[in-house]
Amino acid sequence: MDFKDSIRVIPDFPQPGISFKDITTLLQNGPAYKKAIDEMKELVSSLKIDVIAGPEARGFVIGAPLAYALGVGFVPIRKSGKLPYETIEVGYDLEYGKDTLAMHTDAIKKGQNVLIADDLLATGGTISTSVNLVNQLGGNVVGAAFLIELTALNGRAKLPGIEVFTMLTYE
Ligand code: 5GP
Repeated sequence: MDFKDSIRVIPDFPQPGISFKDITTLLQNGPAYKKAIDEMKELVSSLKIDVIAGPEARGFVIGAPLAYALGVGFVPIRKSGKLPYETIEVGYDLEYGKDTLAMHTDAIKKGQNVLIADDLLATGGTISTSVNLVNQLGGNVVGAAFLIELTALNGRAKLPGIEVFTMLTYE
């Protein structure tokens, strides 16, 4: 199966010059979604994973089924103000403006092996912030897994020392 056939590319979204990779067309195709998660499970099969952490919102639709397939837990990384219990927060720069990601202080136990999962690696800002949060909680980030990597943006450079797994690449 060529997964790229299931991904819709939208020019100039959300702003001119951005070629947005729309994964909703893959998600609505049951066999393609299942195969994508099964293949991501294979990609990370060499890792010892205790828990998967995924940033909202598309990190949930990749990270949670992957956690289920591996039989490990899933913890959400959310925008500030969404999580009900005590949190830690880290701010980061977006192309235009700033944002903040948060995790529950008890989401990760010290020394747990954590895989971070998201739909897409672009500049790496979201995932390096996620790594920062997991590290602050005492987790051990064993890898970062993505459905898609936009290679031209070199997000990997923001993840030094972290093994990066991607299913599909676009320039
Ligand atoms: P980064 O922080 O690496 O620059 O951007 C990655 C984050 O933005 C991911 O959480 C991802 O969901 C979202 N994102 C950025 N560009 C795209 C895109 O073209 N398609 C999708 N599906 N998500 C994107």
